[in-house]
Amino acid sequence: MSAASLGATAAAGPAPSAGTAAETLERAAAARPLVTTRRVGRLVVHAVEAGLQRLDGGAMFGVVPKPLWERKMPADPRNRIPLAMRCLLIEHDVGLVLVDTGLGAKEGGKFRDLYGVENASDAGGSTRLDDALAALGHRAEDVALVVNTHLHFDHAGGNTVREVDGAVRPAFPRARWVFPRGEYGYATHANERTQASYLAPNYVPLMEAGLVDEVEDGAEVVAGVRVLRTPGHTPHHQSVLVESDGEVLCFLGDLVPTTAHVPLPWIMGYDVEPLVTLESKRGVLARAEAEGWVLAFEHDPVVPFARVGRGEKGYEAIGL
Ligand SMILES: [Zn+2]
Repeated sequence: MSAASLGATAAAGPAPSAGTAAETLERAAAARPLVTTRRVGRLVVHAVEAGLQRLDGGAMFGVVPKPLWERKMPADPRNRIPLAMRCLLIEHDVGLVLVDTGLGAKEGGKFRDLYGVENASDAGGSTRLDDALAALGHRAEDVALVVNTHLHFDHAGGNTVREVDGAVRPAFPRARWVFPRGEYGYATHANERTQASYLAPNYVPLMEAGLVDEVEDGAEVVAGVRVLRTPGHTPHHQSVLVESDGEVLCFLGDLVPTTAHVPLPWIMGYDVEPLVTLESKRGVLARAEAEGWVLAFEHDPVVPFARVGRGEKGYEAIGL
């Protein structure tokens, strides 16, 4: 499915009596299976749906005018679009490797309403991420390593859980964490423009417990799993490459949050350095096209995986 055909699916929808284009997109997002599994060479990876959030469509598409973006991602009456909080789970010899952790369950009703969060467990856990792990036959104890692309609340919120007495502890009791070097300092020295995205309980208790390794660009965190610096959304943002037997999957994080963001100038208004994002995208998409990478989209409401090709107007997402 190309980005264009994704847009057509969402925007055209069925007859008007079945609801608006935004409602059609909401239904498609809600219908996503909890887990989508692929092989990357000898490794098995799962796209894990850790719930939905709803963010302002204008903020999601930066300088792109609404008449263009709403064809691909129709907005609800509050101008919000549904966004997945999709994690990548890699079955590895060392144990499970989890890339990003969704939003978690520490935030209250006002916060959850503001961001349209829908990630509660349907099966007695605390979040949908717990449900997905259970559906795969795993427990939180089976996660050996968590890699965070960056520390925004919708990517790192599930790192920790709050006990009834208010204490915050790691959500994965046997895991260590990998942050891109620099991101923790950036998160703990936020300013008026950046602070709303950074919530200390998501990462400070982990650092204070000595559970975090801060890594450089290109670090191989376990065999076949490598981080790739892709700055712009935040100055230290990293994507994650899974490589095995000549196959490559790239978990993009917020470099390219949805298939609609594949065209180079379609960059989020949230990005702190959008022109840096542009160059990060240019480099990654060129490699992805040339080497046939599978791309994993963290926030696309309906498409977990795609490849990238070049159409008349530049890069576009291609269905697998
Ligand atoms: Zn982010």
